[in-house]
Amino acid sequence: MKNVVFVAPPAAGKGTQSDILVEKYGYNHISTGDLLRAEVASGSELGKDLAEKMQKGMLISDEIVNSLLEKALMDERPFILDGYPRTEKQITYLEEILSRVNREIGVVIYLNVPENIACSRATGRLVCPKCNSVFHKTENKPKVEGICDNCGEALISRSDDTEETFKVRYNTYVENAKPILKYYESNGLLKVIDKINIDEVTSEIEKVIK
Ligand code: AMP
Repeated sequence: MKNVVFVAPPAAGKGTQSDILVEKYGYNHISTGDLLRAEVASGSELGKDLAEKMQKGMLISDEIVNSLLEKALMDERPFILDGYPRTEKQITYLEEILSRVNREIGVVIYLNVPENIACSRATGRLVCPKCNSVFHKTENKPKVEGICDNCGEALISRSDDTEETFKVRYNTYVENAKPILKYYESNGLLKVIDKINIDEVTSEIEKVIK
């Protein structure tokens, strides 16, 4: 399987699609947001600092994110990278990190979801704090209300999934993503997916990862 980089606005469905690919093909899902949230949950000094910035939708320093990422990329399974690169500088960092761990990107997938749809997904999103599975209050309900299908933990809403913070995150993301998309288009790695429906998106992804 090809190594995948997901470039998509928040709540475009990266988490849901990643869960499917992990289950079906044994991918290692590396989400920089999840790595940072795990640091926050650990209660470390660093975590306290991160929590405040993340709550506001601000980006975390490259130094911190890069070091968490490099550690995660040492795992040998094919990877899905979700949430990175988010800026032009991070494109270069990613190339440096990948060459150090002797790996490469197979395809960059852009999930093109409009703001109003992404926003309603975010504000209805339910996540598992233990295994990071993602559900939705109306579109993708867990089998038992409020409980993770995969590990039985109580589901929560993310503190940055309010409408107000979501707008900041979405617009920051889209603005920063423009040069990233241009770059991966120019080197032929980019695949844009315009579908919205979960199953249709999965089948489009399956066409390009094998
Ligand atoms: P996400 O789960 O991808 O929406 O990320 C949640 C938050 O984590 C973001 O709003 C940022 O504060 C932080 N974050 C995640 N990935 C990165 C990154 N590549 N660079 C800087 N900050 C990040």
